[in-house]
Amino acid sequence: MTHRAGRHFLQIPGPTNVPDRVLRAIDRPTIDHRGPEFQKIGLSVLEGMKRVFQTRHPVMIYAASGTGAWEAALVNTLNAGDKVLMSETGHFATLWSKLAKKLGLDVELIPGDWRRGADHEAIEKRLVEDKAHAIKAVCVVHNETSTGVASRIALTRRAIDNAKHPALLMVDTISSLASIDYRHDEWGVDVTVGGSQKGLMLPPGLGFNALSEKALAAHKLSKMPRSYWDWSEMLASNATGFWPSTPATNLLYGLDVAIEMLEEEGYANVFARHDRHAEATRRAVRAWGLEILCAVPEEYSSSLTAVMMPPGHDADRFRKMVLEQFDMSLGTGLTKLAGKVFRIGHLGDFNDLTLAGTLAGVEMGLSIAGVPHKKGGVDAAMEYLAIEAAKRIGVKRAA
Ligand SMILES: *Cc1c(COP(=O)(O)O)cnc(C)c1O
Repeated sequence: MTHRAGRHFLQIPGPTNVPDRVLRAIDRPTIDHRGPEFQKIGLSVLEGMKRVFQTRHPVMIYAASGTGAWEAALVNTLNAGDKVLMSETGHFATLWSKLAKKLGLDVELIPGDWRRGADHEAIEKRLVEDKAHAIKAVCVVHNETSTGVASRIALTRRAIDNAKHPALLMVDTISSLASIDYRHDEWGVDVTVGGSQKGLMLPPGLGFNALSEKALAAHKLSKMPRSYWDWSEMLASNATGFWPSTPATNLLYGLDVAIEMLEEEGYANVFARHDRHAEATRRAVRAWGLEILCAVPEEYSSSLTAVMMPPGHDADRFRKMVLEQFDMSLGTGLTKLAGKVFRIGHLGDFNDLTLAGTLAGVEMGLSIAGVPHKKGGVDAAMEYLAIEAAKRIGVKRAA
């Protein structure tokens, strides 16, 4: 290994760049997780995460990756053999459905083409047909990280309400939480699943479940085997700011500071920043003459953009050249999309110039990889970012 000067650009859609302030917070001595100093931090992050999820209800914080939080959502609310309705929006929705099957749930997966969000009309139709209410939960991935498509959760909620169906609504927000506006209570979500390493700007290692009263009622009747994931044990300990087993103390230091940073900036500004960077990225992609994978403009993701490679060009060869020459990691195409797309992560600790650098790396990469494209993507993005900056300060720009 030789030293590479300058910062690595970690532009995969998670894990994301961890800000220095969060790193400094984590870099403190580990303390007694049953002591008074920890209790303050415990209570602070448990309250703070409610604001992040926009909920008044309890939030579970696990030492786990997002996959653990997926499992926790299911084993705390359902019973073996229960029917679960899921939408095949991409790689992550498919993985969640496989996990549900392994747990002994009866999964019905509404097929999708990996270019659009959950089909709320198909969900409504299926729920209307289910007169006996065999379906116990509808599970949707909010931001499908493999495709750059954000499903409209309010429409899924409406589909369930229109069908007057009692199924629980469960949503994966692992790559949207704290990047894209997400309203657990307002949208009537029963269990929201989250993770630390994407919009929350932390290293991997924390998984979250936000709950509803209905989810807690289902929990009381659910008999799936569980121990580590058990909400009841967590709730009992969390009430006083503690955990049933050893929590990820140092990650919780980081979480406390990450929430503080989000709130200093203001959630509305955080979401607007992500929207702006996503729009600038799409302008660059269009200027290059490449195609965005997401086929529905209302469902464009603000945390990442998946870009289709022209036929005959391998996205992973291009990514490798970008990594080797410009020290930037871009997201790979997952399963069905392997080699066909690359993904630009523009979430987390990210600003206009990080985006400009990211897009410059992509544009130079397209050039050296011999991928047919037009120049001017970075210019198109800069033009848009300058327009937006001028609007913020209310000035006219020089031509
Ligand atoms: C990253 C991600 C996951 C997987 O989370 P892990 O932390 O890798 O277990 C699940 N769903 C979505 C939408 C993701 O982006």
